[in-house]
Amino acid sequence: MFLFSDLDLCPQIQKAIEAAGYKAPTPIQEQAIPHLLKGRDLLGIAQTGTGKTAAFALPILDYFYRQQRGIYRGLVRCLILTPTRELAAQIADSFDKYGRNQRFRLAVVFGGVGQHKQVNALSRGVDVLVATPGRLLDLMNQGFIKLNELEIFVLDEADRMLDMGFIHDVRKVIDKLPAKRQSLLFSATMPGDIANLAKTILIEPVRVAVTPPATTVDTVEQKVMFVEREKKSYLLTTLLRNGSITTALVFTRTKYGADKLARYLYKSSISADSIHGNKSQNAREHALHSFRTGKIQVLVATDIAARGIDVPGVSHVINFDIPNEAESYVHRIGRTARAGLSGIAISFCDVEEKQYLLDIQKLTGVPIQVIEDHPFHSEAAAKAMPAKPVSQGRSAYRSHGFTHQRRRR
Ligand code: AMP
Repeated sequence: MFLFSDLDLCPQIQKAIEAAGYKAPTPIQEQAIPHLLKGRDLLGIAQTGTGKTAAFALPILDYFYRQQRGIYRGLVRCLILTPTRELAAQIADSFDKYGRNQRFRLAVVFGGVGQHKQVNALSRGVDVLVATPGRLLDLMNQGFIKLNELEIFVLDEADRMLDMGFIHDVRKVIDKLPAKRQSLLFSATMPGDIANLAKTILIEPVRVAVTPPATTVDTVEQKVMFVEREKKSYLLTTLLRNGSITTALVFTRTKYGADKLARYLYKSSISADSIHGNKSQNAREHALHSFRTGKIQVLVATDIAARGIDVPGVSHVINFDIPNEAESYVHRIGRTARAGLSGIAISFCDVEEKQYLLDIQKLTGVPIQVIEDHPFHSEAAAKAMPAKPVSQGRSAYRSHGFTHQRRRR
């Protein structure tokens, strides 16, 4: 087995990895780190959950350990651009964790909060700056940040930058970077625009592509419950009260739906909060913190808000609404069964969502078990199934990948 000790990382970092409890590098770490330590550019096709943050954070920290030098007012040595505040905070946490045994200066800038503290943190210059594009440009325009001596540039989640309409801001930032630098670009997918962008910022890059970790679909037990739309909230409270669910990340399609459901749960004496793009930075962080620390049992989220969020130990992901894009389903259920733990994903499917379920099945190719044994089972939604169950459970619906568990009567 390939071990961290096989990588040429300095002892301080090896110690921090040990303290984090990691046994072996993930595939992207194993493939990327040796090249990054040599200063190569990298095109990483990987999504959150693959260990990509450590894949770039470890060699960057190693570089700073070996290349200690004074930093000057407003100067930044390494810039990591990421699309959301939550991701920025998570990346900064990772640098803190892996860099705990060495001295380096780290700052994080993102919008939605006052800039004063961020400007202060930058004033003496930083080794590593983690930033979202809007606030970064804003601070650059005000003269608080100089990138002309940048040594390392990381563009994280490039496809999502494109999705969220940040690509022009990203290009403006790139225009200000010095030509001589090491550049890394990470993206879960490679649409044409991102491939073109990669060509303009990377020089003879090493290309590393990893599929989402096996956990995404293989170690998550996937179940579907057929239920009428109006009864979904009752089904949810019933499941949450029967004791088997310790923590649940519940997905709704809309921000309004997320708020409404969190309020309903709260009124039903179930500790819950919601997270979505319309909430203030403070409210989002508060909800996430409550969920991470176990203060609340349920976090209701929309796709954009939850993608990339890392909450270890989520026992259940519940698709209150089935996503209309099959890829979102894979992202959602990837929030459970992290780092080798097992997890359960339950989808609530009404008649109108049946097609989405089939699309998901086609994409993942992994059986989804039908659970009829619940008080709100909808025969109407179940009936529209494309194949009939056969007598012995698991082979039923095989043609569409569904397995079937008969209702106890
Ligand atoms: P990322 O894809 O960077 O968001 O990482 C996903 C999760 O995997 C985070 O919780 C990391 O702490 C964890 N992780 C990263 N590298 C390893 C590793 N080599 N072994 C075990 N867990 C890891």
